[in-house]
Amino acid sequence: MTRRVALLGKPLRRRHSQVMHDAAFAAAGIDARYELLELDEEAVEPAVHQARGSDWLGLQVTAPYKRLVAGLCDEVESDAATIGAVNSVARTADGRLIGFNTDAPGFRRGVELAMGRSLEASDVVVAGAGGAAHAVVFACVTAGARRVTIGNRTRSTAAALVERFVGIADAPIDAVALNDPAFVTALRSADLAVNATTVGMVDPGMTMAVDELPIDATVFDLVYVPPETPLLRAARARGLKTSNGSEMLVQQAAIAFERWTGVAGMADIMRAAVTPLLADAAAPA
Ligand code: NAP
Repeated sequence: MTRRVALLGKPLRRRHSQVMHDAAFAAAGIDARYELLELDEEAVEPAVHQARGSDWLGLQVTAPYKRLVAGLCDEVESDAATIGAVNSVARTADGRLIGFNTDAPGFRRGVELAMGRSLEASDVVVAGAGGAAHAVVFACVTAGARRVTIGNRTRSTAAALVERFVGIADAPIDAVALNDPAFVTALRSADLAVNATTVGMVDPGMTMAVDELPIDATVFDLVYVPPETPLLRAARARGLKTSNGSEMLVQQAAIAFERWTGVAGMADIMRAAVTPLLADAAAPA
């Protein structure tokens, strides 16, 4: 029996996850395939229900269905519930669906591997307050960051993010608007600056002034298409250490693969499979 995994979303513009997981299934000798299911909203519940069948290993979920699918799972793990987003689902042997989040551990591993640094005791500035930023902030506060400042275009969304983490974070978390002078003040003492917005991918421009960062700060952009955003280009030109989101993409995929199959250590296979796709990515208009 060929086992199945599917990515649910609409629209589905990217094949990166399919390429990584199919390469890992082949390398591990597992008869399984990763499908892309671009579904209208009314088709999501039947698709999730179908994944309780014995031929399924699990699901991945992207916009706009992360919240909807969370509500259709039999259980949502506490980290995913705190973050407020389920991006992966594992089917148990008895056909129950467990929702979890791979972005937070993927970000943490991505920073460790691509930047050679830990989040522990770091002063982190995060631009963005969407789903990805929730996972980034969760990873920072659970890894022992010293301080986290969230700057978002819409300040109220950043403030809501902070509210979500009250009680689980020892470190202070501040919410400011991206154009607030307090955001620049936070940049001046940052060890790590993170772009968790779609700026650089969807919109041109950048979310922070790299000239304000200390010269030993590192800059991590979750965007991986294009491989070098204007933010990373400016940071590199200033001599700062930089990384795009490709290692996070690979790490979160390897985490999901291990949950579905029990096979660990597939990151190298996945990275090799997806690298040609990432290199081909066109620059934004
Ligand atoms: P999302 O939930 O839609 O959030 C979008 C964020 O971008 C919001 O904070 C939004 O601010 C901000 N934003 C959008 N346009 C902006 C603009 N013109 N100026 C300033 N801020 C703007 O998206 P998401 O799921 O969090 O994803 C964010 C990014 O992370 C995407 O590029 C995605 O590809 C990337 N990502 C990468 C990985 C990886 O593995 N590398 C994983 C997950 C996500 P407002 O609240 O003001 O609208």
